[in-house]
Formats: sequence, C-alpha cells, structure tokens
Amino acid sequence: DEESTKPHIAVLPSPGMGHIIPLFQLAKRLVTHHRFRVSFLVVTTADPIPAAQTNLLRSTAVPSDLHVIDLPPVDVSDILADVPPGLTPLCVMVEHSLQTNLRSVLLGLSTRPTALVIDLFCTQAFDICGELSIPVYSFFTASTVLMSFSLYLPTLDRETEGEFVDLPEPVQVPGCRPIRTEDLLDQVRIRKSDEYKWYFLHVSRLPKAAGIFSNTWMDFEPVPLLALKENPFFLNIPTPPVHPIGPLVKEEEPIAESDKEILTWLDKQKPDSVLFVALGSGGTLSSKQLTELAFGLEHSRQHFILVARTPNDASAMGAFYSAGDNEDDPKDYLPEGFVKRTEGVGLVVNSWAPQVAILSHASTGGFLSHCGWNSTLESMVHGVPMITWPLYAEQRMNATQLAEEVGVAMKTALEPGNEVVRREEIERVVRMVMDGEEGKAIRQRAKELRDSARIALESGGSSCDSLARVVKAWKLEHDTK
Ligand code: UDP
Repeated sequence: DEESTKPHIAVLPSPGMGHIIPLFQLAKRLVTHHRFRVSFLVVTTADPIPAAQTNLLRSTAVPSDLHVIDLPPVDVSDILADVPPGLTPLCVMVEHSLQTNLRSVLLGLSTRPTALVIDLFCTQAFDICGELSIPVYSFFTASTVLMSFSLYLPTLDRETEGEFVDLPEPVQVPGCRPIRTEDLLDQVRIRKSDEYKWYFLHVSRLPKAAGIFSNTWMDFEPVPLLALKENPFFLNIPTPPVHPIGPLVKEEEPIAESDKEILTWLDKQKPDSVLFVALGSGGTLSSKQLTELAFGLEHSRQHFILVARTPNDASAMGAFYSAGDNEDDPKDYLPEGFVKRTEGVGLVVNSWAPQVAILSHASTGGFLSHCGWNSTLESMVHGVPMITWPLYAEQRMNATQLAEEVGVAMKTALEPGNEVVRREEIERVVRMVMDGEEGKAIRQRAKELRDSARIALESGGSSCDSLARVVKAWKLEHDTK
C-alpha cells in the first residue's frame, strides 16, 4: 500500500511543550507538504501527561500519516525525588527512556526510518542509531545565538578558568554580538553543577548530527546564521550543515469550550489594544513579584489578559511539568479585589491560555513574555511587539537580542530575577509599549518581521527551500534502498 512506500522519518523530542511543539510542527510539515510518513516518539514517565500535551498530540486534526507513539513509561521518581526543576530532571528522564526503549522501538517500526530527528537533549540517540545505521539530525529549537554559543562551549570550557559569569568581558562568539555574562543561560553559571554537566554533554555531541535544523529564518538572525553557513569549521569544530527552517510555530489550535469567552472578549476590544501576559509553559513568579505585576497592570489602565499561576517563591519554573494543570483559584493569590476592580479591562485566565489564538487576534497589541523561543517566534509570526520578562534557561539572552538587536521588544529597567520589579516600572513599560511612541516603533518592526516570516516559509522562501533540500536528500536515500 501507499503508506509503506512513503519515505519514513522518526522524530523524537525531549519532554516539555517548548520542545514538543516545534518538533511536532516539523513532523506535520513533512507529512502535509512532503508526503512523508512520520513516527513521533514521546518520552513518558510515571507522571500524568499534561492536558496541553494531550490536546496537541491527540487532536483529531493530526494527519493520519503522523503516528504518535508513546515510549514505554519509565519511573524515575525515586532518582528525582530531591532534584529541583531544571534541565537535570529532564535529562535523567530522557536518559532512562532512551537507553531502555529507543532501540527496540525503532526496530519495532513497520519500516526502518530514513532518518531520526531529535532535539538538543536526546543525544543518546547518536550511539543507538549509529548501531542501526540510521542518520540522526538535530533540531535546535532555540536561537542561533544560543546555538553558536553552544557549539563554542567546549572551547570556552577548555580555555576558561573559574566561572564564565565572572569573566571580565562579555563572551565573544563569532557572528554574535558579545554576550553579557549576566545574560548567560542558567545552565552554564556554575560549572560544577549537574545542570552544566548535562548541558555540556549534549552540546558537545551536537557536531555528530548529520545536519542541524534551526527554528529561525534568515531575515530574523542574518548575522549569526551567515557566520555559521560560511564557516563549516566554525570555531575549529567541524560543524554540520545548519538548515534554518523556521519559524515553525503552533498554528490555530482548536479552542476549548472554556476558552471561547477569551476570544469573545477580544472580539470586543480595539485593534492592538490588549496586552497578553504569559510566562511560557512553566514560568511562575514569587508572591511579591506577582503582586507588583498585578498592580502595575491595573495602574497602567491598559487592557490585558493575564495568565495567572500560583506563585512560587522557590523556582521560576514552578509549573514546568504540569504545563498549566492547576486548579487553584487566581482570586486566592492575586491582590485582594484585583479581579473585581479590573473587570472589563482585564481578563484573568487560570494557568494556561490558547496563546496562539490570542496572539493572532487583531485586538492583541503587546505580549509580556518570558521570551521562551517558541513564544518569541509566535509573537513574531503574528506581528506583536514584546515586553521582556526573562525567567529561566536562556531567556535573558533572548530578551537582550529582541530588545537591543532585533528591535521588537522593550525591557524593564530593572530586570526580573535579580530583584522584584516594582509596580511603577511595570506601569511605565506597559504604557510605553501599548500607548507610546517607542511602542509604535517596535510594533512597526514586529509587523515587518511578520511579513518576512511568512515569505520565508512560502514556496521559494529561504526556510521553505532549506527544508526542501534535506527532504530531497531523504527521498533519494529512501528511493535507493
Ligand atoms: N503556551 C500556551 N499557553 C500558555 C502558555 C504557553 O499555549 O498559557 C505555549 C506557547 O504558545 C508556546 C509554548 O507553550 O508554544 C511555550 O514554549 P516556550 O518556548 O515559549 O517556553 P517554555 O515553556 O519552553 O519555557
């Protein structure tokens, strides 16, 4: 039958919506644009699967040639009992799952895949697939700046004494603006930490990939992309070909019945008048910071949608593994009377909102975001300027890039994380972006990027061509087997 003659690709993301979403988009594109069959492998543990993940992967809109396959669950709860949220638990889950399951699952597929596409944190696949003669491609789901930094990390590690954050000068990576040490990603701040060991392990294996897809496009990050393209021995490391194929973002999603009122409310607002406030799939604020944010929004008198989460004083990624599955009533932790006082002006949504539907709505005119790469791309695709509120991982790097290099975002004067950002400052920045001259300039830039993103993905566009070249090679490989 036709199914078994189609070329077959396997795709394997690490856990977390920020990884699953872009790899799933790529999988869909291979099926719908290029007539591939895709096996989408999902790492599962003994923990319940977040509703947002189920809604995406089990939606009836998933094309029939895209097979979602859960890897048999591994129970790592004992090992992770005392490990704080971060990269370490994620990598431990992946390590156990892949060592136990990947080989047998790949061998059990009805046909041998022509290639496996992984993300950065699944590099155990290189050895496992090496034995099976399946080439492995990596999909780097963050910025090119982070990719370049990551390729450079082994060199930096060799040449630096002490911590990178104590270096007297910003870090110089070819093709990138100097990276301020305070913007460096969390994982590389303490080199003795497990977080660093895991990050280092995975990035140092990146050169083993047959190719690296990146979720970006030429016009968005021209300088770092050209530096990588023109230099196959980037920093003396044999760098695999880099294929910018983005922005691949979640499309219009089916809207849950309970979320419909959000869109009805947006329908009644003026164009570009609503600020959307959301901190990714896992972001949380301290109680103090959440109170300041709420008052800042209220005092700005701008219209807003706030995705509220139970505050967490211990971690900025307190909701990462629940992806918004939270029953707490926001009235219980937001300032007394806030919901009532802002009625009509603001809308408070509990834990998880249909972000893409909101960003694509004409009434949405600003996005206060933790600057996760997917949120960033979604904002760009829909032409929405941003207020940066970096929380964890590499988000401070993204915030700086967006505000100072791309020109689509505004930072708060005091950056979140170091100290509590006060309500007056939040009020000022919100007004400036939603109602000020500065806001007009970054909105204009965001709309330009929206158009350039669309062109990049259309037939003949840079990202479309990038993917088509790899697809062609895969088809040839399939046909000669
Ligand atoms: N997201 C969403 N609703 C929410 C929060 C997040 O749909 O209330 C989606 C968002 O659209 C994005 C992803 O979750 O696609 C978050 O990915 P990102 O890379 O921005 O951040 P991460 O969660 O990985 O830190």
